[in-house]
Amino acid sequence: IWNHVPAGPPDPILGITEAFKADKDPRKINLGVGAYRDENGKPYVLPSVKAAEDRIYNAKADKEYLPITGLGELNKLAAKLAYGAESAPLLEGRIASTQSISGTGALRIGGAFLARHYPGVKTIYLPVPSWGNHTPLFRDSGLEVKGYRYLDKKTIGLDFAGLKEDLAAAPEKSIVLLHACAHNPTGVDPTPEQWAEISDIVKVSIQVSVSNARLFPFFDFAYQGFASGDTTRDAFALRYFVSQGHNIALAQSFAKNMGLYGERVGLFSVTTSSPEEKARVDSQIKILVRPLYSNPPLHGARIASTILADSLLSAQWEKEVKGMADRIISMRNELYNHLTHDLKTPGEWGHIKSQIGMFSFTGLTTPQAKALGEKAHIYMTSEGRISMAGLNSHNIKYFADSVDAAVRG
Ligand code: PMP
Repeated sequence: IWNHVPAGPPDPILGITEAFKADKDPRKINLGVGAYRDENGKPYVLPSVKAAEDRIYNAKADKEYLPITGLGELNKLAAKLAYGAESAPLLEGRIASTQSISGTGALRIGGAFLARHYPGVKTIYLPVPSWGNHTPLFRDSGLEVKGYRYLDKKTIGLDFAGLKEDLAAAPEKSIVLLHACAHNPTGVDPTPEQWAEISDIVKVSIQVSVSNARLFPFFDFAYQGFASGDTTRDAFALRYFVSQGHNIALAQSFAKNMGLYGERVGLFSVTTSSPEEKARVDSQIKILVRPLYSNPPLHGARIASTILADSLLSAQWEKEVKGMADRIISMRNELYNHLTHDLKTPGEWGHIKSQIGMFSFTGLTTPQAKALGEKAHIYMTSEGRISMAGLNSHNIKYFADSVDAAVRG
């Protein structure tokens, strides 16, 4: 009966992990996967998460179903974390939200909600490149997917002129996906001044008011705290847009910043113009979620809300996020210094230091990335993206030496 079903291509990132696992060389390094690793290359369970789990265990909590839109307490606390306690739509009770199956689920519910209810053009513009799952995810949720220029391959920095041109040329009322911080896969973020210009382009059709803005911004916020080490600073773009009166959609994830990857904790939210409109939107989100998975998972939601509800525990968590971000930043500096000063590797490596968040677009070519896998047992995506979190003081010298050899051919 399934004779006609063709074999699909393997997932490019998970394929890297397979090759890594099969490699027996002790020097091997996996820089493919986007999960934080500690100084010894091991997965990291945050102490604040362990403390929250102890509390949950001691409270002998039950395992009943959550409501369709999840743990209400988490929805409130997560909105405060992203939008800020002073945010007007938050204070005015006009943010509709639902817990989701992590960031992916938030984006997918968001895509489905927009496909069903957005009154404009059901096309979403993604940065080129973007996280690999964005295209299939939005396509499967019923939106048409197009791109806007983002990475300038020559400078390995932001193609700001191209970005502005493409967003200005997008048809009125299209949707635009913005990475709120720590752009994946490039590590290239707009500056605050550039965000202000992007906000204007999204808003302005010269005469149109914000409530009737030109484009609809959908923020993917998978790395709050992971970029700068400061959750408030990383929320700049989102909060700036909201302060400018934009109506926005938001996908949040606690996978990276709380290390809750497999627990699948995230949220989708959308600003509305009144509590009454919010209630109607909430009802439609429930109608979407119920036939998809009925209600979201409980344990991770309890962990995140236990941390965010307790001022001591959340202060501890903020320190731990900063610890992860700082370790990544120090790896960027070390790698830059090895390549530029110690090895004098041909090329310009400043982008390694200036890029932000978990990933770095190294500028290594596909043949160089392949050679690193085959000759040095170092695994990265074929586009030369590395997860900085896979580097540590034990392997960084070997990595820099191997990059140097690959570049020199
Ligand atoms: N958006 C971006 C940009 C990401 O990098 C990721 C994770 N790689 C996600 C969303 C979703 O991750 P998760 O579903 O694990 O929260």
